[in-house]
Parts: sequence; C-alpha cells; structure tokens
Amino acid sequence: MSVPSAGLKGIKTVRDFELEGKTVFLRLDLNVPLEGTKITDETRITASLPTINYCLEKGAKLIVASHLGRPKSADDKKYSMEPVAKRLTELLNREVVLMEEPSSEGVKHILYGNMKNQIILLENLRFDEGETENSPQLAQQWASYSDIYINDAFGASHRAHASIHALPEIMPRKGIGFLIEKEIKMLDSLTDKPKKPYIAVLGGAKISDKIAVIEKLMDIVDGFVIGGAMAYTFLKAQNIPVGKSLVETDKLKYAKEMIERIEARNKSLLLPVDHIVSTEFGNVENKKVTSSAVIDENYMGLDIGPKTVKNYSVALENAATVFWNGPMGVFENKAFCEGTFAIAKALAESKALKIVGGGDSAAAAEASGYADKMSHISTGGGASLEYLQGEKLPGLEVLRPRKQSEQVPV
Ligand code: AMP
Repeated sequence: MSVPSAGLKGIKTVRDFELEGKTVFLRLDLNVPLEGTKITDETRITASLPTINYCLEKGAKLIVASHLGRPKSADDKKYSMEPVAKRLTELLNREVVLMEEPSSEGVKHILYGNMKNQIILLENLRFDEGETENSPQLAQQWASYSDIYINDAFGASHRAHASIHALPEIMPRKGIGFLIEKEIKMLDSLTDKPKKPYIAVLGGAKISDKIAVIEKLMDIVDGFVIGGAMAYTFLKAQNIPVGKSLVETDKLKYAKEMIERIEARNKSLLLPVDHIVSTEFGNVENKKVTSSAVIDENYMGLDIGPKTVKNYSVALENAATVFWNGPMGVFENKAFCEGTFAIAKALAESKALKIVGGGDSAAAAEASGYADKMSHISTGGGASLEYLQGEKLPGLEVLRPRKQSEQVPV
C-alpha cells in the first residue's frame, strides 16, 4: 500500500463508501470557459469524468453541482449550465436533467423515480446568493435529499461556499473524488521530500501574488527561475535599468532581500539576461531583442529573450522536480509567447516530475501544445497556490473528522 499524502489525512475518498442505491451529491468544478454557448476548453469536464463514472458504475443516484462564472443574479442566463448539461449528455451517454430550481422539491421527485439512465445536474449554484454566503439553509435543502457528499471541485475548495463548506459540515458521510485526491498527492510531492534538484519556475504579472509561495519554497527548492513581469522588479532591485517595464516599486525592498536570502542559502536564482521588448504594451512593429538585461528607457520587457531561454532550459534539463507557475511573458499575444512556449518545451523534454499550477500557467501549457507532456496540470489556480503556501482549504478541512480520535463514517 502506498503511504497516504499528509494533506489527505483523515479524509475519506469516494472508494470508501457503499454507493449502491445511494444518492450522491457530487460537487464538481465545471466552471468552463464559454463563448456564447460554446465551451472553449472542456478540461474541467473531462477531468471530472472518472469520479462521475465510478459513482454510476457503483449504482449511485447522482446529483452533480457546480458554479459557472460570476453571475449577478439568476437572470444572468449566459451563465446557465445548459451547455455543460449538453456536453455531459454526450460524454456519458445518459440523460442529464438540468434542474433550474436546485432547491425545489423537483429534485426529490426525480430521485424517487428509478433514474436508470439519468443524472441530475443542478443549475449554476451561484444563481442563488446563498451559495457564496455559505448559507446553512441552502445546505439543509441539499442535505435533505443526499446520502453521501463528495467534493471533487479542487478549483473551488479554497472558498467557504455553501456547496463546499456548509453542506459537508452537516453531512455525516463525506469525502473526496479522484481529481482532488490526485491534486493533493501531486502538490504534496512538491513539499514532502521532493526529488532534487528541485526548481521553481515563477512568472506572471506580479511578485506580490507570489510572495507567499516564494517564502514557502525558499527552504525546499534548490533554485528559482524567474520570468514574466515579476523579473523586472528583481532586476531593478539590483539597479539594472528596465525602461518602461512593469515594476512593483513597493516590492523593490522585498526583492532585494529575497536575492540576499537566496544567496545566503547557497541556492540559485536565475533572472533574464536578455528580453523581447517593445515601445508599448502589445506593440509588434517596434519589437526587438535586447543584447543584455538592460532595457532602454523607451522600451518595456514583454517576454524573455533567446539567451535567457537557453539558460533556463539547461536548468530544467537537469532538474528532478519542477513547479511552474506563471508565464514568462505576455503569452496571450503571439508576438510575445515564444519564451513561455520554449519553457513549456524544455519542461516537456525534461525527465523531471513537472507540476504546473493552474490558471494562466495551465492555459500557457495548453496553448504551447506540450500540456500532455506535463506530469500534472492543476485544475485550480488559486486553490493550488493557497494549498502549496500551506493554507488550509475550507473545502478539505471540513471533510476531516473533528477530533483526531474520530473517523468519518462510511
Ligand atoms: P499571473 O496571473 O500573475 O500568473 O500573471 C499572468 C499574466 O502576466 C498574463 O496575463 C501575462 O500576460 C502577464 N505578463 C507576463 N509577462 C508580462 C510582462 N513582461 N509584462 C506585462 N505582463 C506580463
């Protein structure tokens, strides 16, 4: 038997329950990007299928629930789960009954039928403001027709919302699905005796968003590789001119201290030695490569340069564990995506265990074409960072027994 991940201690998984004939309330993260009614990335749906299929194979009656976007009210129909219901119907080859009134008695009526080839999908949970308010009343309604609660919505587990927190708080039988189990095991492997050399690749817009994770990883990793706009604050902190590049002036002191602390620990800190720059954000005509880390005063850095890519690729080639969070440049623009995609390629070719934080990094890995070469791409941007930083996720904590001597019943 493999040793359970520390982060999963005391938490039951869907495997632990007798599901035959039981009603399972399955909280998923089906918050997919939409263009009109077209799903533009169905990763979150496909990542949820193993738990759905397992419950169905074991004979459970399934109520699937998720939020979608940030609707202002229930009239905000562009956030309806309808496209998700349609896609689930195709993928599962079952009728997916979309319940427009998730709290109504209608759910019970369907549950009392034989539900042979059906599953219930509740309409967007955030259509009811009780969801974000962690409403006990709303939780009570859901609990009135559910036997077992399973959370497989990793991307929402850092939020104390009714379907993530209030509901499992009152459900005696509760646990996680396969997606969360894998997420936690993968993220734990980044902090619990990771294989060395271990490199954290951090990028993105702001250093301030990454401070907590830098602090957490400082004593664990062997080195940091920094790209994106974050890098300019580090360069400026060393008095290297960065022109009009995005710099967090209030973080210059922190960046300087961090450089010293990393050096004092004898760890490596790789910063860009050249850049792709332009005169304005997104301007392609004036794009050029700098010959050094210095950026002229009328230019701004928008991607890492070729010499930097080479340096970073060598570091990744020799790594045994890599955590990547944040793009190396403005990758959404084709003219400035090369550095980010080259890092994705270097990771793809490296034998390291490579774990990609969700959000923008997941989108960048996907856009690079190398997503399937990563060991794991988290489905939760905010949740994965918070977990890695050592914060307790409300959606996980509520699934642990209250006292150490207790167990969650199965
Ligand atoms: P984050 O959410 O912190 O990971 O930041 C991701 C965002 O950072 C993306 O939208 C990128 O376009 C942006 N970004 C990356 N590099 C730069 C840069 N050099 N200048 C401005 N924005 C950047």
